[in-house]
Amino acid sequence: MIHIDGSTGEGGGQILRTSLALSMCTGKPFRITNIRAKRPKPGLLRQHLTAVNAAQSICQADVTGADISSLSLTFVPGQVNPGAYSFAVGTAGSATLVLQTILPPLLCAKESSTIHLEGGTHNPWAPPFHFLKQAFLPLIERMGAWFSAEITQWGFYPAGGGKCIFRITPPAEKLLNIDLTERGRLIRSEVLTAVANIPWEIADDECKLIARGTRFPIDRFRAENVSSSGPGNVAMLEMEFENSRAFFTGFGEMGTSRNKVAHLVSSSANRFFACGAAIDEHMADQLLIPMALAGKGSFTTRAPTSHTTTNIEIIRSFLDIQIQISEIRKGVWKIWNG
Ligand code: ATP
Repeated sequence: MIHIDGSTGEGGGQILRTSLALSMCTGKPFRITNIRAKRPKPGLLRQHLTAVNAAQSICQADVTGADISSLSLTFVPGQVNPGAYSFAVGTAGSATLVLQTILPPLLCAKESSTIHLEGGTHNPWAPPFHFLKQAFLPLIERMGAWFSAEITQWGFYPAGGGKCIFRITPPAEKLLNIDLTERGRLIRSEVLTAVANIPWEIADDECKLIARGTRFPIDRFRAENVSSSGPGNVAMLEMEFENSRAFFTGFGEMGTSRNKVAHLVSSSANRFFACGAAIDEHMADQLLIPMALAGKGSFTTRAPTSHTTTNIEIIRSFLDIQIQISEIRKGVWKIWNG
């Protein structure tokens, strides 16, 4: 049995999700201790428990320690069964992080799956639904998979209650190698700002402020009123390059001005645009698992975050692969395996 120390590196929920995902992909059981040791409230929160339960459902795993606040867990996976599943976080906890847990094994399965999720769809500190739909999943499609993603209700913190559906069709054989070292020309960029149950003018202003703050052309701006059970505001900027995609997000909340939200989005997109790397920081830690499962891949990114370095360490516990990191020019790093 593999032993994972949940206090490694970043010490957050991703260590658990990566362990669950790779345990299911490899059939190797694991025990994790010190779950989320470096977070203010360590142990399993509702979102992490939903991810554990989702993993258990898709592979009929034997699990001990799956309780709220639990600091350790044992997971013995069975065979992964693709199919139709519904998982509800039950709070504003991120529904997309539940998908992050079960996507790798479903990509290694022989048949398609349809996953209905309920919970937060646009949470700070988690991949927004649109990041997955517009940036992450299209890159995984380049590895031979196919997806559709639909949102019927947006879920913001703290009310949650979002609803989305993902259809996942795995590659015919296995995930293909991917080379994302050169991003190529910027061919499209779009801004989508959204508000729920607060004035639409906030979203409209954010579009105007992002337009003023960005140092590259933006093709399209949309400010939308969206359906959600509570108030919420998000500003998102999507970039499509010839050979890559990137996505930047800012969240509005009480006490955060629209100016600040817009500035966060435009300044992070400007930094990324100027540095010339192909992959943004959030995408980097999330691409590692598919790339490791493919056996060979590479990308360039800005300085690796502790999510990225920690994820590499956990991947090495399950897969016999070398993932290498090297700064290839000032501020641009290459990460590769195989
Ligand atoms: P905790 O650390 O409290 O357990 P957590 O379970 O949410 O929280 P983390 O370990 O912090 O987990 O991982 C968060 C994941 O969400 C990472 O993969 C990170 O890249 C991703 N993420 C966070 N913010 C964004 C964003 N704006 N866009 C895309 N992905 C994001």
